[in-house]
Amino acid sequence: MQQGSSENPHKVVIFGSGPAGHTAALYTSRADLEPLIFEGLQPGGQLTITTDVDNYPGFPEGIMGPELMDRMKAQCERFGATYKLDSIESIDLDSWPYRFKAGLEEGYAQTVIIATGASAKYLGLENEIRLQGYGVSACATCDGFFYRDQVVCVVGGGDSAAEEASFLTKFASKVYLLVRRDELRASKIMQQRVFENAKIEVLWNTEMIDVLGESAVTGIRTKNNKTQEEADVELTGVFLAIGHVPNSQPFEKWLQTDETGYLITRPDSTATEHPGVFACGDVQDHVYRQAVTAAGSGCMAALEAERWLETRLHELKGAS
Ligand code: NDP
Repeated sequence: MQQGSSENPHKVVIFGSGPAGHTAALYTSRADLEPLIFEGLQPGGQLTITTDVDNYPGFPEGIMGPELMDRMKAQCERFGATYKLDSIESIDLDSWPYRFKAGLEEGYAQTVIIATGASAKYLGLENEIRLQGYGVSACATCDGFFYRDQVVCVVGGGDSAAEEASFLTKFASKVYLLVRRDELRASKIMQQRVFENAKIEVLWNTEMIDVLGESAVTGIRTKNNKTQEEADVELTGVFLAIGHVPNSQPFEKWLQTDETGYLITRPDSTATEHPGVFACGDVQDHVYRQAVTAAGSGCMAALEAERWLETRLHELKGAS
């Protein structure tokens, strides 16, 4: 009987291949559940667009983001996990086992682990995209350390921007905060932290209209949207903090999300409201968003999927 058919469904199908997806794959493969992982549009997830990762335990010299993800994948393959490059296109959670379509692959799954992550929003400027990983970043916690005694900027006016700007002052000599309006969206307490920090200079009504530099960032071009005045600012790091978009779209028809699209899971669990469907990593976490926390929740999803499947198969056996 063909693996993945309705008579012989996959035990576990995982969508996404960041730290959450790989860790779920590691635990389920070691539990002999033969997981099938669809890597998605960005195999390896957000870490593949960062350079050195210094905050993942076990690598005292640090490790390049893409290498860390390659290693996680190799570790899972060692235990029999199967990877496919496709992305989830659709899923039907109306009847069990769950039918899915990913690229050319169609099949059935007894349990589903959603680890599709979130994507940082970028402005979409040509040079901003070209210099990603060479001075342009969307994660101060990941990359801030490399800007000791340098001048950097943060684009955005929400809690993330305020938090990242404050965090960056531990390293940088100066942090410009580019805010497109004349007020911050960030909470009062975060605003206060920004205003009290002598290293942060807020540039109000200011938009970044270009990133300067050939092989690495050397500055930015700004525009004051009140006066239309343009200016070049010399700096070496640009941090985007204009929000994230959780990659939950294929599941929105079936699963509950919060108002910004993050999948909702039960407290202290990765279980969604749908039996046998679990969500882990950044697609359900807008608070921590770290590789290590994503990996932790991937482990939780795997253990919960394993337990759920055991109970379900036991019930079915009892019923027959
Ligand atoms: P938000 O959506 O809250 O803020 C995004 C910010 O980016 C806004 O100031 C917005 O400007 C600005 N922005 C959006 N698009 C552009 C653009 N094209 N050009 C310039 N600026 C732009 O996202 P956050 O990531 O800051 O926060 C997400 C959620 O996470 C929030 O609920 C937040 O409270 C929470 N959070 C909480 C933290 C904490 O409590 N410690 C830390 C981090 C996040 P405008 O205001 O003009 O719309």
